[in-house]
Amino acid sequence: MEGTTKVEIIRDGEVRWQTVTASGQPSVVIADTSDISDCSKLTPESSDARIYCDSNVKLSRGHILAFALGGTVTIPRGSCERCRGITSAFETAVLRGPMRMVRYIQNAPSRSKHEDVPKTIPVTITLDRREVLIQATRDEAPILLPFPIFAPLDYSTAKTPELKLVGIATGSFGADPEAFAKQHGAKEIELKIVNSDAIAFARMVAKIAYGFAHANGQLPQVKNKSALVRAIMLEPNSIGGFVGTLPSPFKKYPGVQHRIFLRETAAPKMLVAEIQLFASAGAPTYVVIIGRLSEDD
Ligand SMILES: [Zn+2]
Repeated sequence: MEGTTKVEIIRDGEVRWQTVTASGQPSVVIADTSDISDCSKLTPESSDARIYCDSNVKLSRGHILAFALGGTVTIPRGSCERCRGITSAFETAVLRGPMRMVRYIQNAPSRSKHEDVPKTIPVTITLDRREVLIQATRDEAPILLPFPIFAPLDYSTAKTPELKLVGIATGSFGADPEAFAKQHGAKEIELKIVNSDAIAFARMVAKIAYGFAHANGQLPQVKNKSALVRAIMLEPNSIGGFVGTLPSPFKKYPGVQHRIFLRETAAPKMLVAEIQLFASAGAPTYVVIIGRLSEDD
């Protein structure tokens, strides 16, 4: 699905480009970087376990954070062939499109050495009230990356399984759109936003949380972790009961590529993960419920 729209965008951690849209009204503040794990700085974990199912068929190494996002931590023998097919399908749905361009700009690891990234990007600017299409080279094009904003999780009530998309926060990467327009003699610029697959995005975030909890040795304490695994692997329409977005203001963590940490909630006592991809850009933070820490509901 594609749509052409005008948006307010987050660039360098600020909402800088105010235009008309029904987006999530994000505001961004600089956060301190204490008490966090930078995914790119974690050391590879050596624990060895199937984490999604009981199958022994062709067990292989599974990444916690996708290799394409810079993930280096893997779980040896973590995934059977069938589970790998499932996780790789929803990760691929997220990592292509505009995220592929951002990965190129940020020089993220790529098995194809970014050869599949288009050499030019079409950008529409308005010159003398006329729309002009420019084929910008990929190094000079402004790139917009939409992040889904989900309804916040309510820990205390019964879970609402369907994923509620309440807005989109749009990050600006690559060239500054305003500067790009000015450089081409235009006051206005129109950029195309490619809508991402919100359920695939939520499943990817949940998979990162689950793998991270395993790597940190926290899964044995979680009573009902199979519910999250079922949602990630088999029942994606129930993923909304596990993944939500922290309300604005979004926090910017300078120098941190992706951010993740585990914490416990008080009542009910649960293990949750907070995950922020592109933390240095001030993208939204997602909360994932991994499971209950006590027997009683
Ligand atoms: Zn499996």
